[in-house]
Amino acid sequence: MRGMATFVPAKPPIHGETKETLTARLVEIGESAFRAGQILEWLYKRRATSPAVMTNLSAKLRAWLEDTFDFGSNEVILNKASNDVTSKLLQRLRDGSLIETVIIRAPQEGVGLDHSRKTICISTQVGCAMGCRFCASGLAGFKRNLSAGEIVAQLMAVCRLEDAHHPEKAAAGLASFDNIVVMGMGEPMMNYDALLAALKTLNADWGLGFGARRVTLSTSGIVPKILQLADEQLGFRLAISLHGATNEVREQIMPVNKAYPLEKLIPACREFAKKHGRMLTLEFILIQDVNDSLDQARALAAIANDLHAHVNLIPYNKVDGLEWIRPSITRQDRFVKILKDRNVSVTLRREKGHDIDAACGQLRLKTEEQMRAQGLLA
Ligand code: SAH
Ligand code: SF4
Repeated sequence: MRGMATFVPAKPPIHGETKETLTARLVEIGESAFRAGQILEWLYKRRATSPAVMTNLSAKLRAWLEDTFDFGSNEVILNKASNDVTSKLLQRLRDGSLIETVIIRAPQEGVGLDHSRKTICISTQVGCAMGCRFCASGLAGFKRNLSAGEIVAQLMAVCRLEDAHHPEKAAAGLASFDNIVVMGMGEPMMNYDALLAALKTLNADWGLGFGARRVTLSTSGIVPKILQLADEQLGFRLAISLHGATNEVREQIMPVNKAYPLEKLIPACREFAKKHGRMLTLEFILIQDVNDSLDQARALAAIANDLHAHVNLIPYNKVDGLEWIRPSITRQDRFVKILKDRNVSVTLRREKGHDIDAACGQLRLKTEEQMRAQGLLA
C-alpha cells in the first residue's frame, strides 16, 4: 500500500453535507435553518450544479455557498459507449485521480435502451489494496479512498446525464436510474464509513429517496464489515466475490482469503442472510485451469446451497499483463450444469461491455497510460 489514504480538498464537496451538518453551518453564519432544505432541494431534486441557479436564496448566501463548498468535485471527462448496453464514464476528481462509473442498460420489451431500466456501477476507492490477482483495479495499487461527497457526486453526475432520457423521474426529483451496484474500483468495505454516509444521503428524503433494497454492495470478503453491514438499519443487498470454492484455490487468487478464509467468511454470510432474510449473491469469475474444475463447481454448489445464495458466474476478462484466459463456452456450460443439477440458482453473465475495456479498472489504467504518453499526466 502506498500514498495517503485521504485527500483534503481546498473546499469540501457540497455533496458530502447532510441536512444536519448543513443546517449547523447555516445557523453558525446567522442564516435560518430552513435554508438547508432549500439548498438540498436544489441539489438533489432539481439537480443544481452551482449556487447561481438557487434563485430563492439571497445573493449573499449564494456567494457564501460558492466560497465554502465545491459544487464540481467530479468532472466527467470521458463517456464511452462499449455497445448499446453499457457505457463507461471516466470522472476526474480534484486531485486529478480518475475513477470509473458504468451505466448498464437492461433490455426491456417495447422500450428503447436509452429509456430502459438502468444499473449504475460505482467506484469507492482510487485503485484497490486487496491485490486480487485477476483484477485491473488492484494492479496499479491503492491510491486513496473516495470521500462521501465524491461518491454522492459520482452518482449525481450520472443522474444528470440520464435525466434527458427519463424526464418524468427528473421532474419528480427521483433518481433517473433504478439500481446501484458497488462493484467498480475499490473494496467498498475498506471505505465503509464514507460509503454508508453516501448511501444514506441518497436514501434520505432530502436526497434522492433511493431505496436501500436497490443497492448491492460487493465485497472480497472483509468479515467484520459484513457483520457490521448486517446490523445496519437500511437493508442493503450483499454480493460476495468468492472466485474460489476452497481455501486452496481461493487464496491463490485472493490474498484476502488468508485473513478471512472460508471458515470465517461463510458463517458471516450466513449471519447476514439470517438478519436480512434475503438471498445473497456469490460472484465467481471463471478462469481456465485456475478455478473452473468440476471439483470447484461441486464445492461452489455446496456453499450456495448452504447459504441459499444465488451464483453469478462471470467468464474471466483478459487483463493486459496477466496470463490467464477465459474457459471455452463448453467448459463454462459444463460448470453451469453441475450447479443446475444441484438446484442452485445460477446465471452466467456474458456481458458484452466487458469485451471492450474489459472489467473494472481497465478503462482507467488505459486512459492513464495514454494521458501519460501524451504528457497530460505526471
Ligand atoms: N472490491 C469489490 C467490488 C467489486 S471488484 C469486490 O471484490 O467484490 C470488481 C468485480 O469486477 C469483481 O468482483 C469481479 O466480479 C469483476 N472483475 C474484476 N476483474 C475481472 C476480470 N478480469 N474479469 C471479469 N470480471 C472481473
Ligand atoms: Fe479490489 Fe475487488 Fe479488484 Fe479484488 S476484485 S482487487 S477487492 S476491486
